[in-house]
Amino acid sequence: MVGLLGISALLLGALSPLRRTAMTTLRLLLGDQLDPRHSWFARIDPEVVYLLAEMRQETGYVLHHAQKVLAIFAAMRAFASQLRALGHRVEYVRIGESRARLDLPDLLEQVAVSVGADRVAWQLPDEWRLDAQLRSWSECTSLRTEAVDSEHFLTSRSDAARHFGARKRWVMESFYRMMRQRHGVLLTSEGEPEGGRWNFDSENRSAWRGEPPAPEDRRPCHDHGALWQEIVDAGVRTFGDPQQSALRWPVDRSEALHQLDAFLTHALPHFGTYQDAIAVDAPRLFHALISFALNTKMLRPDEVIGAVESAYRNGDVPLACAEGFIRQILGWREYVRGVYWARMPGYTRVNALEHRRPLPEWFWTGDTRMRCVAGAVGQSLSSAYAHHIQRLMLVGNFALLAGLDPEAVHHWYLGIYIDAFEWVEAPNTLGMSQFADGGLLATKPYVSSGAYIQRMGDACSACHYRVRERTGARACPFNALYWHFIDRHGARLRGNPRMAMPYRNWARMDAATRSALLAHAESLLERLDQL
Ligand code: FAD
Ligand code: SF4
Repeated sequence: MVGLLGISALLLGALSPLRRTAMTTLRLLLGDQLDPRHSWFARIDPEVVYLLAEMRQETGYVLHHAQKVLAIFAAMRAFASQLRALGHRVEYVRIGESRARLDLPDLLEQVAVSVGADRVAWQLPDEWRLDAQLRSWSECTSLRTEAVDSEHFLTSRSDAARHFGARKRWVMESFYRMMRQRHGVLLTSEGEPEGGRWNFDSENRSAWRGEPPAPEDRRPCHDHGALWQEIVDAGVRTFGDPQQSALRWPVDRSEALHQLDAFLTHALPHFGTYQDAIAVDAPRLFHALISFALNTKMLRPDEVIGAVESAYRNGDVPLACAEGFIRQILGWREYVRGVYWARMPGYTRVNALEHRRPLPEWFWTGDTRMRCVAGAVGQSLSSAYAHHIQRLMLVGNFALLAGLDPEAVHHWYLGIYIDAFEWVEAPNTLGMSQFADGGLLATKPYVSSGAYIQRMGDACSACHYRVRERTGARACPFNALYWHFIDRHGARLRGNPRMAMPYRNWARMDAATRSALLAHAESLLERLDQL
């Protein structure tokens, strides 16, 4: 597919006879475009040079977790080596080189000259920022340009927008059903959903009490001490533990496939049941840990979905597990991408609830007495990973209740997680978690008091705070902050049928209880750093 920018550039490219004789093409590969099965690689062409570059513009657009920078660069280096071993020509820019400081257009111009290319091609970027940068460069460069599909997703950028049309709320479930039908996933021969239902979410809400044991972490351990030193010497700023001598993220497709296999065998059979659970000593529970491999395109969504559907059809996993997992990839992942492309630019600055508080200091240290949050933030700092419920119902829930600035929350999420790329992170953080888009993506804000956290996990029993208390020095902060949130956003949320119950309960409370809760919440909001 030739992108629009390619067509315009092709029209621009009335080339001189001299330049027409040069046939070399420079093909850019971004750090999240590491798919060895892309059709670009089907043929070895001596007139094609692949460019992979560790760029300061990519390490600097947000403060990243050390493991994220390390894992992406390590995977890029591994990919470059594989391409070379197959006979492809590769130009690689290391972070310590002066060329790493060029912005992308300048780098492309410079490398095109050095390899004698008259044409530059790239796979469509997934981030608006890079897409816009390449698009505007293609309008002014004298080089011929072409954009091709990344061949990764199951939908185009605009499919979700087409599906929802002018609807005010984009309810994921209807998109998911359309995707099941379009791709023939978990359907009977009559085209009906397997098991007679589209969604087994109601069976996916058990708390985990230690049995069955959570699966061992079977990921390989890499020593990337030398690469880490290059990153440090280049002056790249990061945060979090680099784990440079024991990095656990897959750096190539074969490692990613092993990880997928280990998940299918050891974790998938329990994934659905404990999908929403939280456990202090089992940070990963039964989650797959494949988002880094998927988002860097070492794995493709269709092969993951196919493997999970086969596990169900072979009788290895129950339908509720397979459906619960497939919904995340066929449904949520494609859907949030559609939201992103429909709402960018601008989506990253939404703030419907007008929240403005800065992040408390402990977002960078994990040093809070709230045991549930300390666990999720501490784990994120040490491993660049937290599972969905930790992201949504612990850290995100707290941020929303405390009225933290959604843009600051977005930058934190974009930096800290190994899988964080804006197209998937921003709708999850700003839409699903912070309700900052006013309810386009989430039908109600994901907020809860301490009772929900206690029900789904085991953090409360040894917490400094007491989950059953609502006011007082040791009362669980989630409780008063929850009612403060309900009270301060009444004008916007009272009419939402999914919020009817909390507003009824708030109205039933006597005035003295209500004002004690609000006063306590105010005192918490004044000292968020000390909680
Ligand atoms: P599993 O729980 O095992 O799920 C399997 C796969 O399903 C994931 O690898 C992922 O590809 C997909 N998936 C699951 N939920 C979602 C979702 N809501 N949106 C998109 N894909 C989903 N996911 C990212 O990939 N990058 C992000 O930056 C990111 N930021 C998030 C921020 C917040 C506030 C929240 C609430 C969620 C975020 N998610 C993000 C979604 C989800 O939390 C992660 O995909 C998941 O935790 C990755 O771990 P896993 O591979 O073990 O996932
Ligand atoms: Fe979290 Fe409150 Fe439970 Fe402590 S008591 S772990 S702060 S929910």
